[in-house]
Order: sequence, then C-alpha cells, then structure tokens
Amino acid sequence: MYANEGVWRSILLQVVFLQLAFSSEWGYRDERLTPSDWYQEYPQCGGHHQSPIDIVTNDVLVDTSLTKLRLNGYGQSLTGGSLVNNGHSVQVNFPPGKRYILSGGGFGSKRYRALQLHFHWPLPGSVEGSEHTMNGKHLPIEMHIVHIKEPYDAVEQVKNMTDGLAVLGVFLDIGESKNSAVQKVLDCAEKLTKADSTTAIADGPSLLDLLPDSGTFHRYFGSLTTPPCYETVVWTILAQPVLISRDQLRAFQQIKSFESKHDSGCSDSASCLDTMVDENIIGGNFRPTQPYNGRVVTSFVDTKDDIRDIENDVDALCSKMTSSKKTVERISQCAKKQANRILKLLRRMFASKDQ
Ligand SMILES: [Zn+2]
Repeated sequence: MYANEGVWRSILLQVVFLQLAFSSEWGYRDERLTPSDWYQEYPQCGGHHQSPIDIVTNDVLVDTSLTKLRLNGYGQSLTGGSLVNNGHSVQVNFPPGKRYILSGGGFGSKRYRALQLHFHWPLPGSVEGSEHTMNGKHLPIEMHIVHIKEPYDAVEQVKNMTDGLAVLGVFLDIGESKNSAVQKVLDCAEKLTKADSTTAIADGPSLLDLLPDSGTFHRYFGSLTTPPCYETVVWTILAQPVLISRDQLRAFQQIKSFESKHDSGCSDSASCLDTMVDENIIGGNFRPTQPYNGRVVTSFVDTKDDIRDIENDVDALCSKMTSSKKTVERISQCAKKQANRILKLLRRMFASKDQ
C-alpha cells in the first residue's frame, strides 16, 4: 500500500511535469503543440467547421446573391500603425483613429472593421506556405486581414457567432518584379529583432496597395486557423494573387521569432547558436487543410474577369478562324456561347445593382 502510494506520487509528479513542459505552447513543428494536437488544449480546434480548406475550383458554386466587396477607408495608409513579431507571424496593427471597413460582398447590412493583418509563409527552400490551397496546391504566401463585426471590439465577444469575424485572405505568388507595397512591410519587419518586439510603421502602404485588381472571391464559413480556432469566421478568399519577387519571399523566410528555447539539448555554444537560428525561423506557419464536413464554397466573379475571359475567348477563336475554314456553323456556335455569357454577366450586374 505504502509502496503503491510512492509509485502513484511519482506518476503524478511526472504528469504535472509533462503538463508544465508542454502546455500553452502551440506551434507548427518541433517541441511545441503541433496542429494535430491543438485540440487537446483548445477543444474548438477539433470542431467540424475548421479552416483552412482546399478550394476545388470545379466544385465552387457561383452565387448570384454575392456582390462586390465594399472596402471603405482601405485607401488610407498604414503609417502610424505598428508591426509586431508575435512568434507565430508578423502582424500589422492598424493606426489608431483610422477605420478600414469591409461590407457588401453578400454581408447584407453587416459591416466588419479591420483589426489586424498578418502573413503565413513557407520554410526556407519551399514555395508552399499558404494556408488555403487551390485544387490541392499551396501558393507561396497567404495574407489575412482580420475584421470584426460592428459594433464589437474583441474576438471573445463574437466567439459564439457563426459570422462574428470576416477574414479576407490574399495569396502572394512569385512574379517578375518587386512589390513596393509588400516591401514597405518587409522593411519594417527587419527592425523586429526581439521576441514580441514592436516597431512603428513610419511609411506604410495602404490596404488597397496590398490587394489584387480583381474582386473575384471564394466564400465559405470556417474558423480561425490558429488556437483557439473559434468557428466564427466568414472567409473571403480573393482568387487573384498579388505578385512579389523571389527575393521578397526569401526575406519573409528569414524572419525569426527570437523566442528563447531552453530545451534545445545543445551542449556547446556554437551548436546552440545553430540550433537557435533553425528553431527560430517562423516560416512553415500554416495549418494543414481541414475536412469540409458538408460545407460548400461559393464564389463571386468580378465582371472585369468575365469581360477579360470573353475577350480572350473571342481572340482565340478569331485566330483559329483565320487559319482554318470559316464555316457558318462554327461562327453561330461561337456567337451563341458568347451571347449566353454576356447575358449571364448582365443578369449578375443587374442583380448586384438591386442590392
Ligand atoms: Zn492567419
């Protein structure tokens, strides 16, 4: 009996020790609580409407009740705001006194105020860092602009609503040239050299500068992609990516968390330094895609994209016709197809004007 008590006490102590060692630290790899374990401390991470998801373009339903997004105040610069390295990402906190409001887009009379924006990017050497995937493929980076439903101020106030937060997701892909708006964010990020450090944004881009031209978006209901994973997010994923240079992707991949790691197991100072640099790279901060569990993704197609598609089709067809026989049948088929697309487009334009 006495011996048993000793054994139980020892087991209890070990359990307490293990809990202390592994509690509260969540992350994406290494010794932290990794995505498949998040639910142990944050039960909502095991919910049925989780994010991110894989968007399969063939399965997306065009929803005529969705309308163009309205972005009030997005032309204001982020100058006066701050950039924070929170160990999981770099986050822009918006300038006090400036309001960036998201509405339209099928939100009805609801308005959402932007709270912060942050990024998800890949580990060095990889170009797959987005959270949402398109047809099973990651894009390099994903930016999230997190908005809260008016009149609320804190995530805790809206955590039980299915539409308490609206997150605008923007993909960053590799293009030919440097993106000057993203560079302004990277210039600030370079000044963050300590854990939880903050730097003032002296020359910020506007939010509009960070968005693509096309307003085409995908919509579904999901969750925060980090603990506590509240299922309170209306997701709006812009279809067109913003382009950045390869060097700018590398600059993201060099960003470190600067958190002190006490249990890295290194024995001499040189290898400790190596281990520290590796462990402190923030990249790879994306959660794996989650099951749909019956959810549906809908989309709104920007009329600019429709018109561009029609123009491309007509161009392609005209070039074919000059190089082969012009038959009346082919011309009439083409005319019917394009007329149908134009009709659909006009119907959608009138539907959105009614709202
Ligand atoms: Zn995010």
